[in-house]
Amino acid sequence: MNFTLHLTANCNFACEYCYEKHSLKSMDERTALAACELLFSYGHLKNGFSFFGGEPMLSRGIIDLVTEYCAEKSAAFGGEMRYRMTTNGILLDESFMKLANGRRIEVALSHDGSLQDEQRRDRAGRGTAERLEPAIDLLLKYQPNAIAMLTVAQRNAGKLAEAAIWLYERGFSNVNSAIDMRPSVPWTDADIEALAEQYGKLAEYCAARYDSERPLHYLNFESKISAYLDDRPCIECRLGYKQPSVAPDGLIYPCNQFLNKPEYAMGNVFDGIDKAAQRRIYEASCAPEYTCRGCALEKRCRHHCACLNHSMTGDMHEVPPVLCAHEQALIRAADRMAELLYERKSPRFMRAYGIKDDSKEAKA
Ligand code: SF4
Ligand code: SF4
Ligand code: SF4
Repeated sequence: MNFTLHLTANCNFACEYCYEKHSLKSMDERTALAACELLFSYGHLKNGFSFFGGEPMLSRGIIDLVTEYCAEKSAAFGGEMRYRMTTNGILLDESFMKLANGRRIEVALSHDGSLQDEQRRDRAGRGTAERLEPAIDLLLKYQPNAIAMLTVAQRNAGKLAEAAIWLYERGFSNVNSAIDMRPSVPWTDADIEALAEQYGKLAEYCAARYDSERPLHYLNFESKISAYLDDRPCIECRLGYKQPSVAPDGLIYPCNQFLNKPEYAMGNVFDGIDKAAQRRIYEASCAPEYTCRGCALEKRCRHHCACLNHSMTGDMHEVPPVLCAHEQALIRAADRMAELLYERKSPRFMRAYGIKDDSKEAKA
């Protein structure tokens, strides 16, 4: 089991697409340590925490406390905890990166590439790109495979490829992206067409570099390709079991976007998970989405993300039309990339996905 610890609802940025309700609420030491104890009560071998916010680096002391406490405790079991953190990067420094590497915290950077100054300003309205340059150098020095997470606002749909390529050229080999999926954003068919075109460009860009010394792994494409080749869902959700979220006050929710919705609370870190509530929420999430029955893309699509559906439509089973259209565009582009790589029998692609070269067998 993994817990997402929402260390603070506070943030030093004011990104235009942020869906968090910022406040000064932060997790205290007692709550953080109770979360550790609860996680240990589920065994130790495959457990971990994701540190989340707001901006988790504003609660750096709690990250230090949790990772130190868990290191001592898990040493007694002979196991090792794993941690992830997504940060806006502005508070990253050398001492934190040393701690991150010493304690196995994988750090991902939210950064919008060439769109950073426009979309991700600080709370005083100032651009953040220039101030983040040293943080990028540090992150890549300590974790060369760190993931950069890019979000694209509606008006910038036609700039997605440029923003992702900026991140690659800046040194990130692993890039992921999302679009601004707040319910108030009126995505149009034209925007989705622009996105589809951008994904197409990115697919060709990734394919062209796939066998180079430093390929661009655009993780959205790779998950769609493996879901097809392995014939398994691209994300395994198991709502409420896989990655419960712990709010700053210690209440537990099934996943990020259910936070502070009392009807979805399923216990707290002091008294433990309310198993009946957890099961009820999980079972409710298992019903198939109304709009997806019979769709050929079902396994490769994020339609079952209860978080996204619920935040957009108010119903965890009702897929918003923009998600459907966006997933189709993404899967088409991923297929285009796979096609290009298969046609030229890209050695890295064939190896990575365990594909046999039929033409060689035919000749033999
Ligand atoms: S850094 Fe994250 S939490 Fe802070 S405003 Fe931006 S999206 Fe929201
Ligand atoms: S959201 Fe759309 S593309 Fe995805 S499975 Fe449902 S119908 Fe298919
Ligand atoms: S609800 Fe969405 S974000 Fe949460 S675990 Fe399921 S797929 Fe992942």
